[in-house]
Amino acid sequence: MLYRSNQWRQSLKQFPNRVNDIMSGNGETIFNLILSGEIPSHKIYEDDSVFAFLDINPISRGHTLVIPKENSPTMDSLSEDAASSLGQVLPKICKAIMKITGAKDYNIIQNNGENAGQTVPHLHFHIIPKYPNSTHSFVWRPKPIDHSDAGELSKAILEELELARP
Ligand code: AMP
Repeated sequence: MLYRSNQWRQSLKQFPNRVNDIMSGNGETIFNLILSGEIPSHKIYEDDSVFAFLDINPISRGHTLVIPKENSPTMDSLSEDAASSLGQVLPKICKAIMKITGAKDYNIIQNNGENAGQTVPHLHFHIIPKYPNSTHSFVWRPKPIDHSDAGELSKAILEELELARP
């Protein structure tokens, strides 16, 4: 898929003294450099806990990344406060992008983990406008659910979430 392109890694060459930190998996990512202003970005939104900017390799015009300022690689490790701040601003960011680009449709994609297509281990939402002439697609190959497995699975997850309730 196009959005998994790693062309952005080329941009790291401009920061030879930070490449090791960024590639070593110690929590530092290219998005930290954007947050600290060490590398430029096309910012579209910022508040105390959320930052949004245009993707450097857009799938379509207006392709945006929305990130928490908190350093969390994936959704499951995000704090409730950061999650709540993100959730609060996502609708208005979508609304503004749709208004300005004129797109009526869009996808929100959020990859967690390398095997799921994540290339930058700092949590981010992709907002990807879909225009009438857009040709990009996200291929799903769904199969009918196995109800016997689904019964066990839903029960186990439900119990896990009940236990996690404060
Ligand atoms: P993912 O594959 O879901 O981890 O998405 C990472 C996204 O970050 C890709 O779509 C990249 O094009 C984008 N990206 C990487 N570096 C930059 C950068 N410096 N500025 C804007 N977008 C970037």
